[in-house]
Amino acid sequence: MTKLALLGATGSIGVQALEVVRGLAAQGERVEVKALAARSRVQLLERQAREFRPEAVALFDPTAAKDFRERTRDMSITVLEGMEGLCQAAAWDSADTTLNAVVGMVGLQPTLAAIGAGKRLALANKETLVAGGSLVTEAARQNGVEILPVDSEHSAIFQCLQGSPGRQAVKKLILTASGGPFFGWDAQRLAAATPEQALAHPTWDMGAKITIDCATMMNKGLEVIEAAWLFGLPAGQIDVVVHRESIVHSMVQFADNGVIAQMGTPDMRLPIQYALTWPRRIPSPAGELDLPALGKLTFYQPDREHFRCLDVCIDALKRGGLAPAAANGANEAAVELFLQGRISFLEIPRLVGEAAARQAAVPAATVEEVLEADRRARAFVRESI
Ligand code: NDP
Ligand code: MG
Repeated sequence: MTKLALLGATGSIGVQALEVVRGLAAQGERVEVKALAARSRVQLLERQAREFRPEAVALFDPTAAKDFRERTRDMSITVLEGMEGLCQAAAWDSADTTLNAVVGMVGLQPTLAAIGAGKRLALANKETLVAGGSLVTEAARQNGVEILPVDSEHSAIFQCLQGSPGRQAVKKLILTASGGPFFGWDAQRLAAATPEQALAHPTWDMGAKITIDCATMMNKGLEVIEAAWLFGLPAGQIDVVVHRESIVHSMVQFADNGVIAQMGTPDMRLPIQYALTWPRRIPSPAGELDLPALGKLTFYQPDREHFRCLDVCIDALKRGGLAPAAANGANEAAVELFLQGRISFLEIPRLVGEAAARQAAVPAATVEEVLEADRRARAFVRESI
């Protein structure tokens, strides 16, 4: 039986994770939801709490927490709030597994709290590894905690590596990228791209922030950094290839040039479930792949000139230290401004590139230093518009 703490329960990943929990229960696989957390979406969280009966619910927003307490007076739930509440939920005593699916850097402290409490960590919140990769992986090593990737590319690589003789047998990781809604667009069209256009992803239905990240290819840049930390490989051993169909979720090329790919319909419920049932594989809600119906799969080089965020991230990874935290913080701020209609699409790569370049690549020795680099990068973005 899995005893789960689910952070980001009301988001795209969180809602699908609860679908997976229902599906597992229908097969006699018990998953008890011990804690739920979100920022402020009280109504959905209340419905989830009434269905899954957690011991604790955390809301980042204190006003929402107050509202939630009122609404659930008839239930015996510990209602937590703020960052402290998120961290308490992440480390909730009766849970053994924490699935972190909040969006953004705000997930860093809860991730560290879960690891510190010795929970098995299923990680969707990639920003955590991008900004604080050294702290997170070192804490996991010290506490003997397993990090199970939920991000589809990283789950794919993790699946391809099952049975691998070790890191020295791996020549490179090949991350696939859908290319997003603006694949093939030139600078002129990109300059006029609107949030509505950027939010229309061709193959995946996800939260707004990651959808914009896919349109800029920042998402793939973040994922290169995420892969470097999860699998302990340098930037030079991580390739990116555009694959429009999102059927091959990523690949591993081994020393003998044999390549193993993980394929499937684009459905996040498979990687979410695998993170919860690993190493076992059991029926999932993901549909079967129909290869003849697909006919062909295509692969292209990424367009690094028009989608600069990819190389900004790879460069930040190579420079190391706090550079990735700055790139990530600047991106979070820039995406927010783009969604508010306050900056143009091409301002995102420009601001992220400048913020990353301004950050000295000093080591990310403490959480405070990572948070400070993040704050500086956000302030730089807000001040430059
Ligand atoms: P969504 O925007 O759909 O959901 C975000 C979730 O995080 C919501 O539950 C939200 O709560 C919560 N949240 C946001 N801010 C805070 C905060 N300050 N404190 C507590 N909770 C907060 O995002 P996604 O589900 O799309 O993405 C989640 C993470 O998973 C991201 O890191 C993303 O990169 C990654 N990921 C997502 C994929 C997908 O298919 N969606 C695929 C691969 C990775 P509320 O609803 O109350 O605002
Ligand atoms: Mg991904």
